[in-house]
Formats: sequence, structure tokens, C-alpha cells
Amino acid sequence: MLFDAHTHLNFEKYTEEERRTLATEIEQSELAFVIDVADDVQSAMQAIRDAEDYPWCYAAVGIHPANAKAYRDEDIKSIRELAAHPKAAAIGEIGLDYYYGTDDREEQQELFRKQIRLANELKMPIMIHSRDAHQLTMDILKEEGAFSEERKSWFPKRPGDSSADARVQLHCYSGSAELAMEYVRLGATISLGGPITFKNGKKAAEVARQIPIEYLLSETDAPYLAPEPLRGRPNKSPYIVHIVRRMAILKGISYEEAAQILTENGKRFFDIKIDDK
Ligand SMILES: [Zn+2]
Repeated sequence: MLFDAHTHLNFEKYTEEERRTLATEIEQSELAFVIDVADDVQSAMQAIRDAEDYPWCYAAVGIHPANAKAYRDEDIKSIRELAAHPKAAAIGEIGLDYYYGTDDREEQQELFRKQIRLANELKMPIMIHSRDAHQLTMDILKEEGAFSEERKSWFPKRPGDSSADARVQLHCYSGSAELAMEYVRLGATISLGGPITFKNGKKAAEVARQIPIEYLLSETDAPYLAPEPLRGRPNKSPYIVHIVRRMAILKGISYEEAAQILTENGKRFFDIKIDDK
């Protein structure tokens, strides 16, 4: 069994036929569950449709920081409504992306804060996108109560060391191992994908080595970031196998053990109670 904790089956450029073909490939793969992640209201609606169509698919609904200039307050209202769906498993992806221009940084922060508040109000997991804004992302999460004792009290503790879980996923985490450790101490979960397989992905590989596996999730971020040996192609969820294989090597455990633990972590994080597809 495998778990893809961040994929975009709802991707707007897929035709209906391409989406169905991908779904069939997922059904024929080792994947047990995927989290289909939105970046605006339209894609959140598609993610919910996917979740209704496929028992192994759950949705994350939210507005990506790239849409910070375009969103309107009605959109937050729409996300709130979509989040009430029984297969909406998280608010995401939300956060900060400072890689591109600088003219929307105020709006990004405002949109991010509004959606953390929404997740707190709805007591839902939070899925974070953070690029070139690592420290500020953490500061805003702290300020908005994403790691508050109250929030942590809503979710069961982690098995193993019984530490508190704030159900905050750092999707495709690209910061330092040191900051990842700080996140973990706050109650966050680190999600790793294709970069751990890249030759120039030493930083991500180091995070995989240092963070205990109980605090990790596996993800593809398909159609982006295809892992080696498929780097450069359009990514798809079944390629998660290459990521979990690499994770097992970095952790010094068997592939089967890594697959099992990462699937359990995903089911726990997104509160998926059914057994498998
Ligand atoms: Zn994504």
C-alpha cells in the first residue's frame, strides 16, 4: 500500500479522458489513497468531484498563494462550503510563495492568515505551500494559532512517542533539516516528494534522514516534480513508488516497511478510516 499525500488529479489542463486514464492507472497501482489538492475555487470543486467519483480519493480545498491577487472574499466563503463535504480532508494548499515577483506579498499573507483561521474554525488539517519564505511561514502559522495547545487537543497524539499532532503538513518541504526539526517540535508533519530522489536534492534527502519517519508523509505533487528516473516528464501519482523506495534507503529500512508506515501516517493525518481501495 502507498499513500500520495499531495497530488493534483483535478489539474485544470487535464481533459476528462486524461483524468479518467490517470484514475485507472492509480487503481492498478499500489496506491491506497491520494489527496487531490486544490489551488482555487474551481479546482476545489473538481477535487470534490474526484473524491465523489473515486473511493480512494480525498480532497484538500483552498486557495494557493499564486492566486492572492485574484481571489475575492466570496471565494473564501466557497472554500468554507466545499470544506463541509465529508471527503474534504484538509484546507490546502495555502501559504506563501516568494519565488516569483514581490508585488503581491501583502495579499499572500492576508489570504494565508484567513485560511489558517478557517482551518482552525473547522478543526481541519492544514496543508502548507511555502517557497522562499520559510521563516515567515512559520511565524504566521504560530501567530494564527496553528500550533496552539487548543488546536493540538482536537487531534489524537502520535503513536510511538505520543507527541502532540497539530495536523499541519509542510507540503514538498524545501527548507533546512534544522527548521524541519523545529516544525516537528511544534507539532507539524513534513511531507517529501520527488526532490529526495534528485542528484541535487541533498537538502531534502538530509531532511528525510534526520526527521523520524513518524513525522513524515510521502507525496508526488503530480503533475509537477517527477522523481528520478522519470525526472522531466509529467508526474503522476503512481510514480510515488520511486519516492518511497528512496525514502526506505535514506531511512535504512525495507521498502515494504516504509510503504506501510507512510500509508498509516497519511491515513492518520487525513483521518481516513476505511481500510483500502
Ligand atoms: Zn501542489
